[in-house]
Amino acid sequence: MTATTEWVEDHFIAGDLALDFANTVYRRTPELGADLFTNAVALTTWLDRTHLLPATDQPYGRFADPDAALDEARALRGLFWTVFDAHSDGRTIPADALSSLLATARRGIAGITVNPDGSMTTLASEGVFAILALRAIRLVLSPPSRGVHACDRCGWFFLDNSRGRRRRWCSMKTCGNQAKAERFRAAHP
Ligand SMILES: [Zn+2]
Repeated sequence: MTATTEWVEDHFIAGDLALDFANTVYRRTPELGADLFTNAVALTTWLDRTHLLPATDQPYGRFADPDAALDEARALRGLFWTVFDAHSDGRTIPADALSSLLATARRGIAGITVNPDGSMTTLASEGVFAILALRAIRLVLSPPSRGVHACDRCGWFFLDNSRGRRRRWCSMKTCGNQAKAERFRAAHP
């Protein structure tokens, strides 16, 4: 495992947890990069970081079948790519992907509570994917005014909360700087 295939704190750039979850591959374009969920432990530590896993609910706070959870996480992430790609490309949201998100939410609904302020709390580990699915559904049904964007270089998703409303990159530290360097090289051959 190298540094580039582990998720790090700097990866939380999206402005929404569902999008950060979708961004757990090294890159999506121009070709799919390394999976940052290298194994069930990487998935669990990511979920711990986001406080999605119940902290005090042992032994129910951890997945009964970690490998099945990893499979489910990757499948859910694939659905996120489908719906958020459609959204950011200006296409209608594919009904089968939306249907699968609803099925995920329904499967885990007993493992969560929805609070009066719209926040959700995980009661049992299986609720984690329900919360993520519901957050994604909320984003596509009620998108922020500036919508969800995909980074021009790597395909990571983000909300554009910049003052100038012209954010093009997942992060200036990575893709933004690389694009700048490329433009400089092109202008100074
Ligand atoms: Zn990027």
